[in-house]
Amino acid sequence: MIRYTLSCENDHAFEGWFSSGADYDRQADLGLVTCPVCGSSSVGKQLMVPSVATGRKKDEARKLMMDQVHRQAVAKIREIVTTIRENSEDVGEKFPEEARKIHYGEADQRGLIGKATPEEARELIDEGIEIAALPTLPDDVN
Ligand SMILES: [Zn+2]
Repeated sequence: MIRYTLSCENDHAFEGWFSSGADYDRQADLGLVTCPVCGSSSVGKQLMVPSVATGRKKDEARKLMMDQVHRQAVAKIREIVTTIRENSEDVGEKFPEEARKIHYGEADQRGLIGKATPEEARELIDEGIEIAALPTLPDDVN
């Protein structure tokens, strides 16, 4: 048995038990599912929410969801960072120097990663050199 929370065209909410989702569809198609309040056969399923999602449980569910979203975001950023690393030359401390060479056409155009102090980064940006900080991921700290 499967329980659906249904509502009619007049926004009356009620519950219906069916042997399966297909059983519900069949009965609904035949107009056998009617609102107990107004008798309307124009009914539809309401969006289901877990019945445990109340109060503290709801907060936990939301936290779990945020954790999930956070993990997915971190995974996505990790993927992007990995791609950047794979397609870039790590020049370490020579980053500002190499970035300038590329900018002024003294070196081949290529992806660069490396280190720059905040002052060096600001100077590069002032010179119109496009740089971006690679996000630091939680695992990178380890
Ligand atoms: Zn109704």
